[in-house]
Amino acid sequence: AGAGTAGFKRASRIASLEISEIVQLAERAAVLRAEGRDVISFATGEPDFPTPLHVVEAAHAAALAGKTRYPATLGTAELRAAIAAINDVTAKEVIVSTGAKQVLANAMLATLEPGDEVIMPAPYWTSYSDIVSMAEGSPVVVACPMAEGFKLSPAALEANITPRTRWLMLNSPSNPSGAIYSPEEIRALADVLARHPHIWILADEIYEHLNFVPFHSFKACAPELAERTLIVNGVSKAYSMTGWRIGWGVGPAELIKAMGTVQGQITSGACSIAQAATLAALTGGQALLDERRSAMRARRDKVVRALNAIPGIDCPVPDGAFYAFPNVEGVLKAGGFASDADFCGWLLDKAGIAIVPGRAFGLPGHARLSFAYSDPELDAGLARMSAAVTARIN
Ligand code: PLP
Repeated sequence: AGAGTAGFKRASRIASLEISEIVQLAERAAVLRAEGRDVISFATGEPDFPTPLHVVEAAHAAALAGKTRYPATLGTAELRAAIAAINDVTAKEVIVSTGAKQVLANAMLATLEPGDEVIMPAPYWTSYSDIVSMAEGSPVVVACPMAEGFKLSPAALEANITPRTRWLMLNSPSNPSGAIYSPEEIRALADVLARHPHIWILADEIYEHLNFVPFHSFKACAPELAERTLIVNGVSKAYSMTGWRIGWGVGPAELIKAMGTVQGQITSGACSIAQAATLAALTGGQALLDERRSAMRARRDKVVRALNAIPGIDCPVPDGAFYAFPNVEGVLKAGGFASDADFCGWLLDKAGIAIVPGRAFGLPGHARLSFAYSDPELDAGLARMSAAVTARIN
């Protein structure tokens, strides 16, 4: 194949699109804005609140104090100790990475053999399937329909397990559905997993603090599976620190060591200044978490109400995170759209509203709107979306 792009085998293994559909939408919205269009984007899962001042000040102090040298591969001793204390484990069971996304990538790169299967209930966060494919694994997508609360049932889990299953990726609270697994639901899945000791569990709990019903960690509900459970978390969402790029994994020391090898050799450790800032976020006052949760709850209620008032849209109430994931099949049918992507493309071009098609999350017929946006943006955007859809289908 010579030097042609056909040689880029690993990159071409990404099952979906070269750049994530969400990034593409955001870029298209930016182009339209540059052309002078008034575009309102609900495409990105990024809190609009600023990073707390004491966190920014801690970063400033760290930089002034000369914490600007290569950090330890697995994370600074102080931050690993703080995360260990919160999770009731030892620091050896903690790895700090440049965001939760890198934790996921490290885990897959460290553990998958070509063809190993990873079960991911759909809708799943867009990057899951691509990360698994890049690590030469096979995503096993299990559709979890709205009627089942977008949650994986024990029967569906059992039916998709094979001798090649390596991981189950579970995300609660979920991006994009907002679903939160109850202790009973986690227990039912754990009972299945107990019969299949070759399967590891990756519990992505990055929306832990953005819950509108009680949240329960997978590990707390299934402690007997702790030696094959990796908890993934980070500061991006709850502390409005997306750009600081800090996330972490909490799991058995041997797994953490293997992930550290990947991180040390290829993906690199996390920024020392951002780690100092994260330490301040985790050890400082936590009242802001309650404030942000209440703000998001009010937005959730407003968005769900507005969406359900649009003909053809059926939006369940999300229990957590900051996304609405309505079924839009009524709009597709009445509006003559070929697919959810066709609808979302039209909505952006016609009405200047950016939302993400459900197919990006492995569950077509839906669309995701992030409500991590200001009230004026939400009000204006929802009104415009309602007017455009209503005009199209009437
Ligand atoms: N996991 C889920 C479910 C997410 O929604 C995201 C970000 O959107 C991530 C992980 C990645 O988070 P980070 O910003 O820490 O890389």
